Amino acid sequence: MTSALDSPIIDQLNSGVLLVDLDFQLLHWNRFFAVHVNKPLADMIGQSIFNVFPELPKRWFERKLNSVIQLGTPSYCGWEQRHHLFELPHTRPITTDREFMAQNCTFLPYVEAGELRGVSILIEDVTDVCHYQSMLKATMQELEQATRIDGLTRIYNRKHWEESLAFEFTRAKRYQSDISLLMFDLDHFKRINDSYGHQCGDLVLIEAAKRVKTLLRDADIFGRYGGEEFAVILTETNQFGAVEVAERVRKALTARPVVYNGKEVNFSASIGIASFNSEQSNYEALIADADRALYRAKSSGRDKICVTPTLSECS
Ligand code: GH3
Ligand code: MG
Ligand code: MG
Repeated sequence: MTSALDSPIIDQLNSGVLLVDLDFQLLHWNRFFAVHVNKPLADMIGQSIFNVFPELPKRWFERKLNSVIQLGTPSYCGWEQRHHLFELPHTRPITTDREFMAQNCTFLPYVEAGELRGVSILIEDVTDVCHYQSMLKATMQELEQATRIDGLTRIYNRKHWEESLAFEFTRAKRYQSDISLLMFDLDHFKRINDSYGHQCGDLVLIEAAKRVKTLLRDADIFGRYGGEEFAVILTETNQFGAVEVAERVRKALTARPVVYNGKEVNFSASIGIASFNSEQSNYEALIADADRALYRAKSSGRDKICVTPTLSECS
């Protein structure tokens, strides 16, 4: 019954060919299997495929084979769906974190003398494809991440931050939920550059971003808006909550100096706050309100927090 598969051509294939009868008992496998499975074929013939390969997902496998038998049509399972069916070692000289060979599996009705006798299973080794696809995916993810991140401070860049604000603003408007914005700008930053050098200025920017990041929630969206200007989207946060966060930000920045070349460099920031209200028709209006508050914080002495619309004096 296995004469069609027991041929030199089938044995020379660089793919696995395995044959089971209608009761899923093993009838034959080609040389590819013989090389990869550490069991003599003669001892395995007549055994249930699930005894020979206990790793097979039994219910899924039975359903697959039964449909091939009942419909008399081929069926397929690619590695993206199931990485492998048979736990076969792969022999590729490449590093991959997978222990077993990635497989594309095709199930074909096996007909001999005009009668359906079983199912032949073709196994294609796609370990390389799987490996390169995974590497490509990881690289694409890294690239996508890189396009969102500011190179110096490692927080979101302006483009991504603004896209996020557009999205969050629309959502807040639709669900009438709270959203607030903090915009802060380092005070007299030009003096830091002029007195200690641009590299010191860079260090202050990095440190400022780091300190603020640690005190925000995961849901908050923190970005570098411009040179020494930063912005935070506080989702589900009203004005009172935003003032609290701003106070923490202001304190964290002035808490201790940055040490550059043995010198202590103090720095501070002025913070403008705006919260979503019905008069703002788009996110740009929210930014404009926060910017106005920031301007007032600057003009009222710096290292201050101001809110738009004006409810109280700057704190
Ligand atoms: P104010 O308190 O009014 O904000 O004064 P300021 O000196 O901070 O503001 P100004 O706009 O006059 O100067 C901002 C400076 O920030 C000028 C610019 O060279 C510097 N700057 C912008 N981006 C960077 C950067 O990536 N690294 C460094 N080191 N400096 C930067
Ligand atoms: Mg400044
Ligand atoms: Mg500025």
